[in-house]
Amino acid sequence: MNSVQKILLFIGGMFAAIGAMVSIVFIGVSSVTGESGVFVVIPLGFVFIGLGFIIGVIISIVNKKIIVKRGNKYVAKIYGYVDNTSFLENGEFTQNVKVHYFDRMHIEREAILPTSFAKGSNLYPIGMTIDIYEYHGKFGFDPKSVRAEILPGEEELMDDKPVSPDQVQLVAVTCPNCGSSFQAAAGYSSKCPYCESYLNV
Ligand SMILES: [Zn+2]
Repeated sequence: MNSVQKILLFIGGMFAAIGAMVSIVFIGVSSVTGESGVFVVIPLGFVFIGLGFIIGVIISIVNKKIIVKRGNKYVAKIYGYVDNTSFLENGEFTQNVKVHYFDRMHIEREAILPTSFAKGSNLYPIGMTIDIYEYHGKFGFDPKSVRAEILPGEEELMDDKPVSPDQVQLVAVTCPNCGSSFQAAAGYSSKCPYCESYLNV
């Protein structure tokens, strides 16, 4: 579970707990006074909002497990970091990890992993090796697989030469964050020119 999920779970838990307590008070009061207990729908709404947060977190954890379980595994190098502009922690953007790896055709690829870690933590040092999983264009990773293994051809993965143009295939993409459309190279990560968030193409 990452920090964002923990925060969402905390918020969901608070909503559900406070909603449940107020509901019990409302039901108690209405049973004593004999008045209609219809106002209990308000705190019950809070309970449902809270449960919605909790279920959302569970679904995102299950989805990540499915990517790892069913996806194609690649061994990748941690190349750098990009800001995850959707989530702030301590007033700063959380960090997603950019990896480089060779696909089945031995073509160098790039992907952004949804690590969402706080800036300054040393969980994913640049140059380390990590197991990643690709399933229907979504990327997962095994945080415990971060290791100092040296890969064949890793100098090529870690260099900063631009991607060779003959291997680039431009495709139309829609930014999942802001919905804009633009062209980007298939198999690489791209920065949305409109909202500056990163996506895998
Ligand atoms: Zn965008």
